[in-house]
Amino acid sequence: MTNRNGTTRHVVMMSGGLSSYETLRRTVARYGAASVVALFANTRFEDRDLYRFLREAAAHLGVEIVEVSDPQGRNPFDVFDDVGFLGNSRLSPCSKILKQIPAMLWLIENCEPASTIVYIGIGWDEQERIPGIRSGHSHTLKGCRKTALCKSLFTEEGRLPGPGCGNLLPEADAWRVEFILTEPPYFDRDKVVAELAEVGIAEPAMYREGYAHNNCQGLCVKAGQAQWALTLRIHPDRYAYAEEREQRFRREKNPKATILRDWSDGGRPLTLTEFRERIEAQNAAQPSLLDLIDENDWGGCGCYPGAA
Ligand code: SF4
Repeated sequence: MTNRNGTTRHVVMMSGGLSSYETLRRTVARYGAASVVALFANTRFEDRDLYRFLREAAAHLGVEIVEVSDPQGRNPFDVFDDVGFLGNSRLSPCSKILKQIPAMLWLIENCEPASTIVYIGIGWDEQERIPGIRSGHSHTLKGCRKTALCKSLFTEEGRLPGPGCGNLLPEADAWRVEFILTEPPYFDRDKVVAELAEVGIAEPAMYREGYAHNNCQGLCVKAGQAQWALTLRIHPDRYAYAEEREQRFRREKNPKATILRDWSDGGRPLTLTEFRERIEAQNAAQPSLLDLIDENDWGGCGCYPGAA
């Protein structure tokens, strides 16, 4: 498994989060910085401090960040307008268009599957995402045409033999993906933060603000109510932007579409406006916010590595 110059290329998908940083650190420690590429898909919609963290982390590890992005310069809400679908916790076209496709195009243009290993910062506690990620890296850019046919071919351990859809790549042309955070020593966020502090690098600001993920300024459409409530409280300007874009989408594209759902009411659509008004009313009455929202619903962001 070597490049033309006789080396394997190790491509780490960097997001600006701590798990992708730790994936990069371990990959550099194992193979040396010269053979490692840190590939960052820039949504141009990130918290400013994410870019500071990326710069400092890359300098510390001695690697260069290779940046890719949507050639049209769209942010997630622009993507929703263009595709006519408002992203939510189940489906997020922004992830595919702003991250997965630009990263995959870079791989196709700059690497050979036979001499490249892709690394993704999946932890030991989210290994159920691995089959989907393997599947995504084993299809053409058009994605899987028949999930029922391809899904059973991908496991946490690897790919099984068998026919798949017309977009499934032969094994030799598929991208090999590794998940080194699933190996011991298991990812320990506090330990990573402490090690970064020792070399003078502060963890990304969004973690310090209480976010579980450092992406899209706290406006990730995959996030749950707890994160949206946090954004409303500490970044009302950002919340107002998302609320206005959701309203515009409902006016111009689909009056029934919402990012959130009210799971206490059968999963009915819940607009950001209604969610904000509910919190404001509750704050005015001064009982606990926790009576009103699902404080455990932080949602998740399997943003980059989705299935095809
Ligand atoms: S972090 Fe969330 S909002 Fe941003 S691109 Fe990914 S899925 Fe979309």
